[in-house]
Amino acid sequence: MLLGAHVSISGGFVEAAKAGKYIGCEAIQIFSRSPRTLRRTKPIAPEEVQAFWDGLKKARIVGTATHGNYLINLSATAARMRKLARTAFVEELERAQILGIPYVIFHPGAHMGKGEAWGLRQITESVDWAMARADAPNVSPLLENTAGQGSTLGGTWEQLREIIEASRFTDRLGVCIDTCHALAAGYDFLSPDRYDGFMGHVEAVLGTRRVRAFHLNDSKQGIGSHADRHEHIGKGEIGIDPFRWLVNDPRFAASLGIIETAGPNRVFKKSLKLLKSLREPAAT
Ligand SMILES: [Zn+2]
Ligand SMILES: [Zn+2]
Repeated sequence: MLLGAHVSISGGFVEAAKAGKYIGCEAIQIFSRSPRTLRRTKPIAPEEVQAFWDGLKKARIVGTATHGNYLINLSATAARMRKLARTAFVEELERAQILGIPYVIFHPGAHMGKGEAWGLRQITESVDWAMARADAPNVSPLLENTAGQGSTLGGTWEQLREIIEASRFTDRLGVCIDTCHALAAGYDFLSPDRYDGFMGHVEAVLGTRRVRAFHLNDSKQGIGSHADRHEHIGKGEIGIDPFRWLVNDPRFAASLGIIETAGPNRVFKKSLKLLKSLREPAAT
């Protein structure tokens, strides 16, 4: 697994690469624009892209992903809001394409009381709408599993499958598993047997080959809490061992493993060092 962290773009894309280097990242996740507004933002200049990639190369960072704007709800109930979300999603895909980043990780959406079936259908339609319009042929959207809080969709593998299989772009869609969200949604992977059962379930419903990224977050709350509360790795309800099994799982050797816990870069650096120390030499 390519290990790394979510880094800030507040000083520009080149600063994100520098932060990744400082932390020791092999992979980084960034926002491609301010996550606080859906308004269109200024285009990315070619020089910025060049400086970003020069920085990544210097840091030997090979894995990249963007995280979609949190305000995008692809199953918003009001048609006007849905259109706004879809347009913003097009922009997410196109900015990733311009930046040379292959993945846009996004939260599927929330049905706001209109029901699961309705919401899942809207998400597929929105994703298809955006993918048909975006000039982003090299970008794969990755659906992130959620804690299943409130009317939020995507808390189960079956819901993610329903969105993906109904899409016209099935083959281009992948999945990002957030370990904190999975635990909060009710999945137990805290013993070796239960880890195997958990991955068997992912394999049966989605196919582990679809899992291109992980968010490696510990959880402040226990199994089935439906609360999205990230905790530093090893300090929460997940503990160290499940992260050890994950980073050594050969099925995910090419997947990104991103730490998202809030905190200054030196805390990321410490957490990443811990994750890397869990690696075992490959069995021969
Ligand atoms: Zn997320
Ligand atoms: Zn996440």
